[in-house]
Amino acid sequence: MRKKVWVIATIFMLVAGSVIGISTTNTSADSGKQKHNSGNNGKVKNVIVMIGDGMGPAYTTAYRYMQDDPFTMQMEKTIFDKHFVGMAKTYPEDSEENVTDSAAAATSMAAGIKTYNGAISVDNDKEPVGTVLESAKKNGMATGLVATSQVNHATPAAFGAHDVSRHNYNDIADDYFDDMINGKHKVDVILGGGTTYFDREDRNLINDFKEDGYNYVTSTEELLENENDQLLGLFAPVGLPKAIDRKESTPSLEDMTTAALEQLSQDKDGFFLMVEGSQIDWAGHANDSVSAMSEMEDFARAFETVIEFAKENGHTQVVLTADHSTGGFSVGRDGAYNFNPEAIKAAERTPEFMAQEITDGESVEDVLAEYVSFDFTDEELASIKEAASKNDFDTLYGAISEVFNNRAGVGFTTSGHTGIDVPVYAYGPKSEVFSGLIDNTDIANEVFGFLK
Ligand code: MG
Ligand code: ZN
Repeated sequence: MRKKVWVIATIFMLVAGSVIGISTTNTSADSGKQKHNSGNNGKVKNVIVMIGDGMGPAYTTAYRYMQDDPFTMQMEKTIFDKHFVGMAKTYPEDSEENVTDSAAAATSMAAGIKTYNGAISVDNDKEPVGTVLESAKKNGMATGLVATSQVNHATPAAFGAHDVSRHNYNDIADDYFDDMINGKHKVDVILGGGTTYFDREDRNLINDFKEDGYNYVTSTEELLENENDQLLGLFAPVGLPKAIDRKESTPSLEDMTTAALEQLSQDKDGFFLMVEGSQIDWAGHANDSVSAMSEMEDFARAFETVIEFAKENGHTQVVLTADHSTGGFSVGRDGAYNFNPEAIKAAERTPEFMAQEITDGESVEDVLAEYVSFDFTDEELASIKEAASKNDFDTLYGAISEVFNNRAGVGFTTSGHTGIDVPVYAYGPKSEVFSGLIDNTDIANEVFGFLK
């Protein structure tokens, strides 16, 4: 009976769709057309690629629940939903593994080829392959890399460096300075974490950059005051703290994106910018739903800023996707048909932050009372105390995370990546080229086309 109703409803929707022209897939292609009509001739001058590391579809769905207004019946669209155009395949070309890592996937999106896990824009013969950022620089455009991980981590690295291994962090950082294109440094604006790799015993890249005219900043205040078109900003030794753990002196991804756009947009030849929400993935690896939503929010705000810029500019093509999904994040778990965002919203800091405070000598009760707005049950408290007694940071971090996951109805199946397709979002005059089921290599190959 129920099935019959669905069939009739589906037929009705198909007929209605074809009669009045309802399109469910290419809303941002439509907005691209509107832009076209408003006089930008469909030309792409600037390209912004945004990558939510690890941001599989369960993350964007959970974020929608998080953003939902509980006083309305429908679930409101998020900034992502408004610009959804399709899905992307992410598999690598690796002799041992068929689920991608961030390096192989970023190489696909930066250089347009499939390669092995761990490769930084080199192919399976370990030969360097040119990237979209390099093409932009060859065209005389301004270029930027923004991330919340260290800026020489796999994703940004694949746009601005070449290496046989993502683990060669120092060599990757060196590439950002040493690789010249037409006598110029490859990347004009570099923002994220990573002082450890730039200020080293064997070399001080920060001084190198400064000597060549880059402004070097280390705080939100200095970042927002920047007026130099070449900018190096490093705000942490390795990755930035998670968004909800950051002090005011550490910028948000939105702050970094705004500062990058301000400088890059002054180049008359246009610009290429890659912005990464790097730690959605790290939250997934740690099976920590609180951190995952903290980083989704940080990434969503940066996306809003980018969309505002692109709307005003008219000649900017934005594409946003993920490199893979992480953790096997599920919305609902253990047979219960409920996801409860309030449990996640109750955390004012991440479980990682709380575990650190406890490890530093604060009592379990004090830390939980200070940073969490619900009362823990005796059972929950016992599980955290038991974990704390083991003197192992990850065990404690995991036990605190599990209380939130359990209350929220979030499940995880792995500490690694999963091979599911990832959502693709686009805004700008050429958005339609990213619609439907695409391959992650199409991201780079279409961008190469815009840059011709
Ligand atoms: Mg990454
Ligand atoms: Zn990962």
